[in-house]
Amino acid sequence: MDLALTEDQKNFQKLAREFLDNEVVPHRAAWDRAESVDTAIIPKLGEIGFFGLTIPEEYGGIGGDYITYCLGMEELGRADSAVRGIVSVSMGLVGKSILSHGTEEQKREWLPGIATGKSLGCFGLTEPDNGSDPGHLKASATRQGDDYVINGAKVFITNGSWADVCLVFARTSGPGPKGVSAFLVPTDTPGFGRNEIHGKRGLRGQATSELSFDNVQVAESARLGAEGEGFKIAMHSLDKGRVSVGAGCVGIVQGCLEASVQYSQDRQQFDRPLASFQLIQDLIADMSVDADAARLLVCRAADLIERGEPFGTEASKAKYFASEAAVRAANNAIQIFGGYGYIDEYPVQKYMRDARVMTLYEGTSQIQKLLIGRAETGISAFL
Ligand code: FAD
Repeated sequence: MDLALTEDQKNFQKLAREFLDNEVVPHRAAWDRAESVDTAIIPKLGEIGFFGLTIPEEYGGIGGDYITYCLGMEELGRADSAVRGIVSVSMGLVGKSILSHGTEEQKREWLPGIATGKSLGCFGLTEPDNGSDPGHLKASATRQGDDYVINGAKVFITNGSWADVCLVFARTSGPGPKGVSAFLVPTDTPGFGRNEIHGKRGLRGQATSELSFDNVQVAESARLGAEGEGFKIAMHSLDKGRVSVGAGCVGIVQGCLEASVQYSQDRQQFDRPLASFQLIQDLIADMSVDADAARLLVCRAADLIERGEPFGTEASKAKYFASEAAVRAANNAIQIFGGYGYIDEYPVQKYMRDARVMTLYEGTSQIQKLLIGRAETGISAFL
């Protein structure tokens, strides 16, 4: 689908696709099997500018608008969602939170590394007992003189084993969302522990870890935003993160479509290409419509962000639709590939495994529906 892109946007899209087709696509199956990307790809992604999109040049980024950002995430999603997640979390969830809520000192300390891929961030919100309900998280940050002492556990943390800084959310006062604060914790601080989770169904090339905080002491200057603002910061970051996940899912749908068209034209059964069968075209048509619809929803949310307008509900709609569309498309693509779709010589089974988590993280599909339902009815079903 052709969007009315500027020359700069088209140039970045072309650069991104060429780079990823050469540097990521040929290796993705091996990284998937090895349960780790070759981490040498991370600074290379930084050189192309993936980590610096929408981060101002004065902080080491390449600037650019939100549509360019989404084009970059789409290309990453088409190439390898494990790689997309590394970028989205470090730059999107952590870097942009620092940009929006950080002091000048915090921006100067962390952004130049994050915006160039020389350092990585992780986003520590989910806990073993609190996933969809982070307002009741249990990790604590207790005042001790001018410092805070953090205790608790986090789980499923993308980049957790590789990150240089962890944006962690912990309770500084009473129960509920208003007692949560955010902290930037260097991962070499004594008491910070990490343990990689193995055996994931998808996104196997990225490190997903459990984190432990055992009397981790940080100065007051490590707090991001005011005391009690942590939940708001997390929700603001996740609203933007959902646009990024949505864009990555558009890439999955697009990748499934391209692979299915190519394969169905090449593969013959009954002396005819698969593409000539109406039932195969039915599957391809659904993917094509889903790719366009998901991309338009993502672009609408990105455009609202760019214009400084409220975008939360539109981000939920984009993430919900695009993630469910990615699962549908990957499932259809496997059907078109037949038995070959089930082995990892072809990309579609990886798209399926990677797509599945998109309906779970950064707010499950159920949570997105509750947010959309609340916006439509004015009644919160969370209480
Ligand atoms: P639960 O909250 O226990 O939900 C279980 C089910 O109940 C879901 O179907 C859910 O939709 C449903 N449910 C819950 N509440 C309601 C309700 N009110 N109404 C209807 N249905 C409901 N977290 C981070 O903080 N940082 C990361 O970097 C990160 N990366 C991740 C990477 C991976 C690969 C994975 C798998 C997870 C990651 N997560 C991360 C965690 C992720 O965000 C959570 O798994 C997600 O929010 C869901 O929480 P949960 O797993 O505890 O499920």
